[in-house]
Amino acid sequence: MKAIKVTKPFNIEICEVERPEIKSPDDVIIKVTSGGICGSDIGIFNGTNSLAIYPRIIGHEFGGIVEEVGENATEIKVGDKVAVDPVVSCGQCYACRIGRHNVCSSLEAMGVHRDGGFREYVSVNKRNVHKFNEDFDSSLLALVEPYTIGMQINSRGQISKGDKVLIVGSGAIGLCTLDVAKRKGAEVLIADIVPEKLEVAKKMGANRTVLVSEENLEKAVDEFTNKEGMPVIVDTVCSQSSFEDSVKMASPAGRIVVIGLIDTPSQIAQADITKKELTIVGSRLNCNKFDEVVEAFESKELKPELLKTHSFDFTQVKDALKLIENEPEKVIKMVLNFD
Ligand SMILES: [Zn+2]
Ligand SMILES: [Zn+2]
Repeated sequence: MKAIKVTKPFNIEICEVERPEIKSPDDVIIKVTSGGICGSDIGIFNGTNSLAIYPRIIGHEFGGIVEEVGENATEIKVGDKVAVDPVVSCGQCYACRIGRHNVCSSLEAMGVHRDGGFREYVSVNKRNVHKFNEDFDSSLLALVEPYTIGMQINSRGQISKGDKVLIVGSGAIGLCTLDVAKRKGAEVLIADIVPEKLEVAKKMGANRTVLVSEENLEKAVDEFTNKEGMPVIVDTVCSQSSFEDSVKMASPAGRIVVIGLIDTPSQIAQADITKKELTIVGSRLNCNKFDEVVEAFESKELKPELLKTHSFDFTQVKDALKLIENEPEKVIKMVLNFD
C-alpha cells in the first residue's frame, strides 16, 4: 500500500509501505478516506517543525472506514465511518492522572512524533477512534481534528454565551474557534490580513470582521466593547507582537488563549498581567473533544464544509503543497482523498 512520507526536509514521496495488521486486541485497522493538510505538516516538510523526526509518514487530521477490528474493540464494527484522535498519551504522568492527557509528559501526536494517517491503511488504538453515522459525508472526516482544536481553545478560554471574543487570525484554527464560539452564543470580532478569509468568517457568523491592513484593530476593539477592553482574546497568529498586543487589548479580568509554539520571548511586564488580573492560558491539541465535534457535525451546528476549500488526490500531494505555498490566501483547508 502507499503512504506519504517526508524522508527529509523538502523531500516528500509517495512510498510503498507494509500494510498494517492487528497486533494487539485493542487495534483497529482503518482504510483512510480523507486527510487534511495542516500547518504542522508543512512545518515537517520544510524543516521548521522542531518536534519532527525523519523519515515520517505525516498526517494527523484524518478519518476513514473501519476495515478490521481487534477482539477487544467490541464497540467498533467493520464498515464504521470514523475520525481518529491523533493524541497518544501514557496514562501515568501527572497531566494524564488529572485527565489532561493532551499535555502528557511523554505525549506523542500521530504524524509528528510517530507515523501518521496519510496512508491507505492505518492501525490505531480503539481509544482513538470516534464513530459517525453511516450517512455522514466522509470527505469531511478530516475536518474533525481541526475542529477539536477550536473546541479545546473555547474550553480553555471558558468561552460561553454572551462573551465578547476577539480572534486574531482567520486561518483554519481561527475559523474553527469562531464556529465553535458562535455555537456557544459568543459575540465574535475576528481580524486578519486576507479579505477572502474574512469573507468565510462572515459566513460562519462573525459579528464583526477587521481587515488589519485597512483598519486599526485596537480602535475596532474599543468600539466593539464600548472601550471596556476585550474579555476573551484568542491569538492564532502566534507572533512575538501578537501576544504583546493581546495583553494590551484585554479587559480587566480578561482571558487570553495562546497556541503558539515559537520560543522567542515576548515583552510582557508582570504589572500588565497583575493590574488587570489576566488569565493567560495555553491550549494544545485536544482533550476528549472528538465526541462533541462529531455530534455537532452530525446535527449541522457547525459548518466544516466552509473550511474545506480544496481537495486533491493523495498522489498529488506535491501539487497540493505547491498550491498552499503559492496561494496561501486562497487555501483554508486542503483535503487529500485516499479513496
Ligand atoms: Zn492540524
Ligand atoms: Zn502521561
